[in-house]
Amino acid sequence: MKSVTAAIVMALTITACASAPPAARTPQQPEWHPSPNYDVRSAQMIIIHQTEMESAEAALLTLQTRNSGGRVSAHYLIGKDGRLYQLVAESSRAWHAGASRWGGVADLNSSSIGIELDNDGVAPFSTAQIDTLLQLLGDISARLDIPRHLIIGHGDIAPARKRDPSPLFPWQRLAEAGYGLWPRAPLAPVPAGFDPWAALRLVGYDLRDPAAAVRAFHRHYRGNEDEQWLPGDAEILHDLQLQLMEMPPAQAVDPVSDVRRNM
Ligand SMILES: [Zn+2]
Repeated sequence: MKSVTAAIVMALTITACASAPPAARTPQQPEWHPSPNYDVRSAQMIIIHQTEMESAEAALLTLQTRNSGGRVSAHYLIGKDGRLYQLVAESSRAWHAGASRWGGVADLNSSSIGIELDNDGVAPFSTAQIDTLLQLLGDISARLDIPRHLIIGHGDIAPARKRDPSPLFPWQRLAEAGYGLWPRAPLAPVPAGFDPWAALRLVGYDLRDPAAAVRAFHRHYRGNEDEQWLPGDAEILHDLQLQLMEMPPAQAVDPVSDVRRNM
């Protein structure tokens, strides 16, 4: 009798097994073999903002606390008087970019250093502030090996949401010092069949809202916020495209020079 019961139980078990969905696999746990050959991940881009607040003191408060619009921060803040403040270590992920995109990169907070400029969004940027910014850009881009074309504005990476820094921001002065792209004079004629949208995309702009992308391009390169193409845009975009295509490809990682660089 016992053996019959056992046989029935076994048969039921087999039937149950045959009809049950396959059991979820336990993910394989890796074997931990620690290596000393690593360092902290570093930023590859620099994003410039303006606080759109009354003062550096007010901005410091917002950047350090929980506030009604949600928590925000940046690595650095530069006052109108040129004073430089740091709020977050460069190796940490500050919350300054929000939903944003540049080229194929969508999580800009993870890959960038954020610099806030104490500016209400209307006033011109002071000479003292831009002098400090240029020193800071020189320091960060040399240490982190950030290429000039990856120094851009918040409005460039979030064209449908953000408009900072304002059209008064001196991108040309930055480019003359070696930070950011700027069209070269004199501009060459545009070849037949040139597609300004393709060039805008190559530069890095997110084209999901085309009017916002054109507005962001104008804010950065033409000092206005027009949403329609303007005479001269194609020549500027063609030159920016040429500059990007003329850049040397990223240096292949050479383990020896990497070790030397780390020493
Ligand atoms: Zn911003």
